[in-house]
Amino acid sequence: MSDDGTKLFLGKLYKLMTVTTTIPVLGTIAELRSLVKTLNKNAKLIGVVPTMGALHAGHLSLVSESQRHTDATIVTIFVNPSQFSPTEDLAKYPQDLRADLEKLAGAGDIFVFAPSAAEMYPAGFSTTITPPNVGKLLEGEFRPTHFAGVATVVLKLLNLTRADFAFFGQKDFQQRLVVQKMVEDLNVPTEIRVCPIVREADGLAMSSRNIYLSAEEREIALSLYRTLEFVEAEIRDGQRDGYQLVVEMRQRLIDGGVTRIDYAAIADPHSLETVETIQLPVVVLLAAYVGKTRLIDNRLIALTD
Ligand code: AMP
Repeated sequence: MSDDGTKLFLGKLYKLMTVTTTIPVLGTIAELRSLVKTLNKNAKLIGVVPTMGALHAGHLSLVSESQRHTDATIVTIFVNPSQFSPTEDLAKYPQDLRADLEKLAGAGDIFVFAPSAAEMYPAGFSTTITPPNVGKLLEGEFRPTHFAGVATVVLKLLNLTRADFAFFGQKDFQQRLVVQKMVEDLNVPTEIRVCPIVREADGLAMSSRNIYLSAEEREIALSLYRTLEFVEAEIRDGQRDGYQLVVEMRQRLIDGGVTRIDYAAIADPHSLETVETIQLPVVVLLAAYVGKTRLIDNRLIALTD
């Protein structure tokens, strides 16, 4: 970025002690608004990549996609308390801003917005988005307050960044449906782009929570991926009985060693309503505990030519 406004902005660089990266890190809404104003004045296309940090190759694929389509990418790093219930892993959620910045280093035209919880939710904050109906099923049944927290923080981030495009991962299949519907219903002028699931070499979907897994649990976690592979093979082979497949999915997860299954579902990819007689496309969605770690994964199974 070579325009004067942005140079001025870069002058305000917040330097972290031992980080050699030159990525500007903004901690306040005022700083973010000032950046966005400068970018808008210079007619730059803005992409936003909302994350909770603990960045991995899945997040970085969203960043690359944003860089391909926009002039400036704002990566937000914020562990959003309102999307965790009191019994969930907020307190131990991995946070290491320095490591995240190192992972982003080298990528051009990137800005990081890493606000505090008090910056995002100052005293007196009291407005919450009611998520669309598609948020009530599956995750919504097991984490009833989750999508209200997600929708509220995403809307705040879209308002703050005034992004032309926002990039989300297919990994959180239901989350992106919730965000897409919210944006449509509330006429938010940001286009939502969805990027494929990035996996480890053996198939495990990348997740910030994978670091909680012991070596033994890491092996058990693979049963989610293997179950998705099994279901796709069965469906491609002509199995049309959704109920029977769900029974087999659950059995495979249990045999694979998962501690608890929240859901194993075959659903319509738009409404997420359960499908009893399979007609493509369908989405297969899993949420299960491996030890104390809750993992999700999914597979969209579409018609092939
Ligand atoms: P998180 O930091 O887990 O809230 O995720 C931030 C964004 O990264 C969300 O849009 C996720 O769907 C996306 N994401 C997380 N894991 C992956 C993955 N393995 N592949 C692609 N996108 C991902």
